[in-house]
Amino acid sequence: MRVVLIFGPPGSGKGTQSEKIAEKYSFAHVSTGDVIRAEIATGSEDGKLAKALIEDGQLIPDDLMITLLLRCFNEIDISCGVILDGFPRTVLQAQGLKALLRERDGEVSIMLDMKVPDEEIVERLVLRGETSGRSDDNEDIIRKRIKIYHEKTEPVLEFYKKEGLLCSIDGTGTIEEIFERICIVLDQSTSK
Ligand code: AMP
Repeated sequence: MRVVLIFGPPGSGKGTQSEKIAEKYSFAHVSTGDVIRAEIATGSEDGKLAKALIEDGQLIPDDLMITLLLRCFNEIDISCGVILDGFPRTVLQAQGLKALLRERDGEVSIMLDMKVPDEEIVERLVLRGETSGRSDDNEDIIRKRIKIYHEKTEPVLEFYKKEGLLCSIDGTGTIEEIFERICIVLDQSTSK
C-alpha cells in the first residue's frame, strides 16, 4: 500500500493538490480536517471538543486524532494507496502513523512538503474565508494557526527527513504548475 503525505502550513494548497493526486494516481484521499468536521457534524462529545479547538485555531489532541484516523482507515478502501492530507501534524502523530501502518503492512513512501511564504498564506486564507464558510478562516485565527504550524507541526519535517522521505515542493504559482512539480516527484519515487 502506497502512502503519500502532503504537508505544509494551512492554505498551502494541500487539499486542492490532494484531490488532483488522488484522481490521477487512483489513491484514496483522507483529509484529517474533513474527518474532524464530519465528527463535529455528528454532534458527539468528541466532536464538541474538536469544534471548540478548531474554532480557536488549535490542534485536536493526538490520541483523538489517531482514533478518528484509524476509524476512517477501517471504513474506506485504501488498498490502492492513500494520500494523507493534514496528517501527521505532530511528531507523536508521525510515530503513531508508523505503528499503525506497520500493522497493515504499509509504509510512507514520500512526504511532499509544500513551501509557501507566510504572507501569501494569510492572503490566500483571508480570500478563502470569503466563501469557505469556515470560522477558522479569519485573520486572527489564521495567524494563530500559522504560529502553531511553526511550533508544533514543522518539527515533523525532521522526523521524515531522518527517514529520507522528505521532498520539498515549491507551492507558489498556478495550481497546474504546482501539480506538475508534484507529478514529476511522484513519478520518480518508487511505487510501494
Ligand atoms: P485543515 O482542514 O487541514 O486546515 O484542518 C482544520 C483544523 O482541523 C486544524 O486547524 C486543526 O484544528 C484540526 N486538525 C486537522 N488535522 C489535524 C491533525 N492531524 N491533528 C490535530 N488537529 C488537526
